[in-house]
Amino acid sequence: MQRLYPLGLGEACCRKGVLSPGPDDQRRVHIPIIGYLLTSKSGRRILVDTGIHRSHIEDPDRTWRGTDFAAELSPVMRVEDTVDYRLAQLGLRAADITDVVNTHLHFDHAGNNDAFPNATFHVQRAHHQAALDNPSFPNQYWRLPGLDYSLLDGEADLGDGVSVFPTPGHAPGHQSVAVRLDSGGHTVICGDAIYEEDNLRQDSWDGHADPERARTSAHDLLERARDLRATVLYGHDAAQWRAIRQAPNWYE
Ligand SMILES: [Zn+2]
Repeated sequence: MQRLYPLGLGEACCRKGVLSPGPDDQRRVHIPIIGYLLTSKSGRRILVDTGIHRSHIEDPDRTWRGTDFAAELSPVMRVEDTVDYRLAQLGLRAADITDVVNTHLHFDHAGNNDAFPNATFHVQRAHHQAALDNPSFPNQYWRLPGLDYSLLDGEADLGDGVSVFPTPGHAPGHQSVAVRLDSGGHTVICGDAIYEEDNLRQDSWDGHADPERARTSAHDLLERARDLRATVLYGHDAAQWRAIRQAPNWYE
């Protein structure tokens, strides 16, 4: 791909222990919600993850009100954090997106799938099956008539230097994304295979559905990234997010 734009899609205020169980469990932290736009000279416009649904600007607890999770995490979104707004800053509309890769179908990664009727959605089949009728993956944001899902069985080349590979553990059939830029540089977009540096620093994986698989997937991912000399972009790392280029800036 020619360019990679990290898109700021808002924040969530959550208990630190949701991400990295450890000594700091009860502290409240703000974590970034992130999407990535990849653009090619050939006209591909690939969006990796779609963020939290825009209705959470008005009603932050819309999805989890009445559940135990509402006390653990609350979205914090402004109009500028909508994926439409971020694309408009780049002169694009949602209709210009040709492909969406959902690393997985949690509400902070597939919340705005409804905005992309022209896109092909790339999701692991094992994940899609696990998410059907499962309230952990609120179906109202992604299981919609008119959305075109291409279900993948393992590692897949999506063309233009983009490939996906399974990193299960955070959720069944979770996938991460490897990007080769035209300049020759590589990037690995973790999704939630690694939430933040503290998962590695504290060897802390209990915030994932299957902690042992999550640990194995994370270390496989890091080995792949080392082989490619790739930059590794974590799922919700506030310190990393502050340090990287954010759209309208880009990597190339
Ligand atoms: Zn997430």
